[in-house]
Amino acid sequence: MAKVVPLADMRVARDDALPAFAAPEVTPTGLLADGRGRALRDLRISVTDRCNFRCVYCMPKDVYGHDYPFLPHSQLLTFEEIARLARVFKAHGVEKIRLTGGEPLLRKNLERLIEMLADIGGLDLTLTTNGSALAAKARELKAAGLNRITVSLDALDDDVFRAMNDVDFPVARVLEGIDAAAAAGLSPVKINMVVKRGVNDHQILPMARHFTGSGHILRFIEYMDVGHTNGWRLDDVIPSAEVVRIIGRDMPLVPVDANYTGEVAERWRYTDGGGEIGVISSVTQAFCSDCTRARLSTDGKLYTCLFATTGYDLRALLRESADDAPIGNYLAAIWLQRADRYSEIRSANTVALPKVEMSYIGG
Ligand code: SAM
Repeated sequence: MAKVVPLADMRVARDDALPAFAAPEVTPTGLLADGRGRALRDLRISVTDRCNFRCVYCMPKDVYGHDYPFLPHSQLLTFEEIARLARVFKAHGVEKIRLTGGEPLLRKNLERLIEMLADIGGLDLTLTTNGSALAAKARELKAAGLNRITVSLDALDDDVFRAMNDVDFPVARVLEGIDAAAAAGLSPVKINMVVKRGVNDHQILPMARHFTGSGHILRFIEYMDVGHTNGWRLDDVIPSAEVVRIIGRDMPLVPVDANYTGEVAERWRYTDGGGEIGVISSVTQAFCSDCTRARLSTDGKLYTCLFATTGYDLRALLRESADDAPIGNYLAAIWLQRADRYSEIRSANTVALPKVEMSYIGG
């Protein structure tokens, strides 16, 4: 018999007042809503905290050097554990899973995990990658059951791109990966460009010109204050409105309705039929009120916001209990008390708050 979760009490509960064993029983109906009425629909899973790039705004070399203590393999969730959690999350409403990291294609035999997730059925499976290994892997990923893919690409100019990834990786190989993904049927391929003032803003127009008419969807992301290692300053952010102005002057754009409520990217269409672009304005136009995303860190901690400070240890529960019910109950209790809205309250004062790094929590 399902018990009613005391929502009011949970909302005021402190993080450390939510021991897993005390989570009340919740029958999974797929209709969980948090304290602000937001459903649980998306799960991002970081499958590795390692990356072969050292993008200056994400994993700067001076922090992530040769001696950086990445997680040992024993601390990562196994594929079986990830698939088990995916089933529990699906029962509580998750419809879409994005594999990320770190660089997800660095995780050995990732296709096997994709097969296991595809076998669950009814999940939209996607992945975010830097594209470095995509030319070799696109077909296997598609065959394993991946539905779509997002490739990060911050510049078309080879010198700028090599400087931003900081490992001298050539842009041509990422472009080959994008072609391979489209040829494998992982389409429409989305391409994410993080724009940082004075670093790659002069690449906005060349990127737009290159991808118009390609069938791929180029999306511009406002540079965010994730983690503590990138020295973020508000002045470095190019607001999406400026991106739309820069492109629209040259290639006229009109706004397009969102595909669904809660879509993160605001859509714009070229009037000449060259396709569409998206802008993701997490700094200038926070979308917390529609946020339906949960995140699972590489070592199995659940975070309810990219800017959250507390992760809830699902791995311990997985390894302690052969029964899925306590995991579902704990997940439900966490979601029901969720109140995060960091981007809505971001200010000079919040930038210094403790946060976790994106490579660990998953981008
Ligand atoms: N390695 C994969 C990749 O490069 O796409 C997946 C992980 S990466 C952390 C995911 C996305 O987060 C990338 O598109 C990256 O550009 C973006 N990202 C990282 N740091 C960011 C920041 N400070 N602001 C905005 N986006 C950021």
